[in-house]
Amino acid sequence: MTDLIELKGITHAYATESGPLPVLDALDVGVPEGGFVAFVGPSGCGKSTLTRLIAGLMKPDRGEVRLHGAPVTSPRSTVGMAFQNPVLLEWRSILKNVLLPLEIVPTKLSRLQAEDRARRLLHLVGLEGFEDKRPSELSGGMRQRASLCRALIHNPEVLILDEPFGALDAFTREDLWQTMHALRAEEPFTGVLITHDLRESIYLADRVVVLSARPATVQHIMDLPPGPRVLDDLYTPEAAERLNVLRHQIEVAQGREPAEAAPSLPPGSAAQGMH
Ligand code: ADP
Ligand code: MG
Repeated sequence: MTDLIELKGITHAYATESGPLPVLDALDVGVPEGGFVAFVGPSGCGKSTLTRLIAGLMKPDRGEVRLHGAPVTSPRSTVGMAFQNPVLLEWRSILKNVLLPLEIVPTKLSRLQAEDRARRLLHLVGLEGFEDKRPSELSGGMRQRASLCRALIHNPEVLILDEPFGALDAFTREDLWQTMHALRAEEPFTGVLITHDLRESIYLADRVVVLSARPATVQHIMDLPPGPRVLDDLYTPEAAERLNVLRHQIEVAQGREPAEAAPSLPPGSAAQGMH
């Protein structure tokens, strides 16, 4: 598989009152076309910065972000984003919230086609029947579902999720994980997920990239067998082993554990276990 998204030698520092704050350090990482890559790492290590760079919302000091081999220099409608806070507009219905991006960046779809697509997405995430409700009439999980539909309305080739389920309770979060698998089966996006939930990373992604503490570099990469997955997959010995490896790598990244004690997966194990 070729990489749809390439980050090449990304170095970035923010200007702050006390001087430059180095955030990313010569970061090299790729996201395969059609893949779903989760980034995990210590808080404040530069994960959200990474998503803004991929989305073309900012430029790195050094290095290049490429999409299909072409440098990313500005935001584009082929990249959809969803965040921890769904930020829906209270005075608009759920359907109208999902349609909002089409008012900002025009689409080739007719009004009817766009509405059909919005309704189909809402159906896919289990929000059929809620099209005319206001955001405040929905639970937090339902609002997040609506914001996923909004992020997908332009049929983006890249979907960036920055800790989208972080504010939800455990049950709702697991429901949304299953919704993500359902969406992925129907929508052909390449996924970038930022999360601090390691179980979420191995449940949703087919590759987990552990970033080091700030300034972030790639600390560890774990490839997982392709989905579909069921929640029981998280309770297998293989899953426990993977979580153990990731947990340890994060501790190494935070400087709490020596690298030499790192547990590793048995050779070839990425192809076994979860199905
Ligand atoms: P993460 O998402 O991994 O928690 P961020 O990418 O949001 O990390 O931020 C990385 C570091 O850069 C943090 O220390 C944060 O406080 C700082 N930072 C983020 N955005 C800015 C900004 N616009 N100006 C200055 N510092 C920033
Ligand atoms: Mg963040």
